[in-house]
Amino acid sequence: MSALGNGKKYRAGVLGATGMVGQRIVNMLAGHPWFELTAVAASERSMGKTYAEAARWHLETPIPEAARGLVVKDLDPVLDCDFVFSALDSSVAGEAESVFAHAGYPVVSNSKNHRMDADVPLLIPEVNASHINAIPVQQKNRKYDSGFIVTNPNCSTAGLVLVLKPLADAFGLEKLFVVTMQAVSGAGYPGVPSMDALGNVVPFISGEEEKMESEPQKLLGKWDGNRFIDAGLGISAHCNRVPVINGHTECVSVRLKKTATIEEVKDALRKFEVPDELASLPTALKNPVVVREEDDRPQPRKDSDVGNGMAAVVGRVRECPLFDVKITLLSHNLVRGAAGAAMLNAELLAAKGFLKNRTAHRSSASEVLARG
Ligand code: NAP
Repeated sequence: MSALGNGKKYRAGVLGATGMVGQRIVNMLAGHPWFELTAVAASERSMGKTYAEAARWHLETPIPEAARGLVVKDLDPVLDCDFVFSALDSSVAGEAESVFAHAGYPVVSNSKNHRMDADVPLLIPEVNASHINAIPVQQKNRKYDSGFIVTNPNCSTAGLVLVLKPLADAFGLEKLFVVTMQAVSGAGYPGVPSMDALGNVVPFISGEEEKMESEPQKLLGKWDGNRFIDAGLGISAHCNRVPVINGHTECVSVRLKKTATIEEVKDALRKFEVPDELASLPTALKNPVVVREEDDRPQPRKDSDVGNGMAAVVGRVRECPLFDVKITLLSHNLVRGAAGAAMLNAELLAAKGFLKNRTAHRSSASEVLARG
């Protein structure tokens, strides 16, 4: 299946292409069956340089050929592409994403700025794909023509909610208590100073607990045709930075609405599978939650890359003396929690007809003008 149906690919731009998340997106676009990278943008530091000169490349594979020679542009919304991924620093993402959407570009964002907006989908396709139905309302509210904004959650929320979804469906959720151990790559580059990170635990990540307590409400809630209705969960989050490169680990205690045995909980997690339509998206997994039985798993070094980094790995499913069940989960913050999440969102948008070839779009607009 080709996204455009004629063998052509959608042309993707990446805002913030030189950063930790942007590099992952650039890497995932190499060889993507539906998308090709045609534009990169970043700050004044990078503007005018080739991508190879501007990016401090962190991945083990080389910079993709399609990216090396692209000249990095600024945030002027005149990029040669059909849609943009945004992996911009949050200090500039809010305004830049609105400007691109206003100029007609679908924006698939990683940044926090628009996640909780009343008309912007906060999406995990396996959890709340129907929330894309908010897009036409957003376009009407904001007088966007073909442009719009969709977002993916914060990196620690992404893995948590993927694991909560099958439990919510099977038993209902009342409240949860979560403690995170988050990798340093979650802070971008250069991120946490090595003097703070090495041999240490930092018990504070600015804004993170607030995001973990609010984003799941929207993700597990409903779009009623006019507005998002929160899931109404009780959530308490403690967030810590630990000296791990990639992979956020989370210890979670959950109070279920319906009584369940530990075996029933494990069964619900193991059997969680997405519909065929979703599973056929290039970055999707049929079973995005993987349950391990060993007492000492999941571990970031051993389990972060499960399912190409798109799985949430769960272990230590056991009774909780305070709530009902406690588990440990792990997900790759830069893939499931960022670049892979955005890629899957873009694939869902393509499959549902929300992406368009902008050249064709522009010419048909000029035809309309010419026709008077
Ligand atoms: P990063 O490594 O610091 O990269 C930031 C990017 O933004 C770089 O490309 C940088 O360009 C660009 N930028 C900074 N200031 C700019 C300006 N004034 N104008 C234009 N571009 C500017 O950060 P990151 O970790 O990739 O995160 C990117 C976004 O994703 C953030 O909003 C973050 O909160 C979110 N996020 C990150 C993670 C994660 O695990 N790291 C997970 C989920 C979401 P230069 O290289 O030219 O400076």
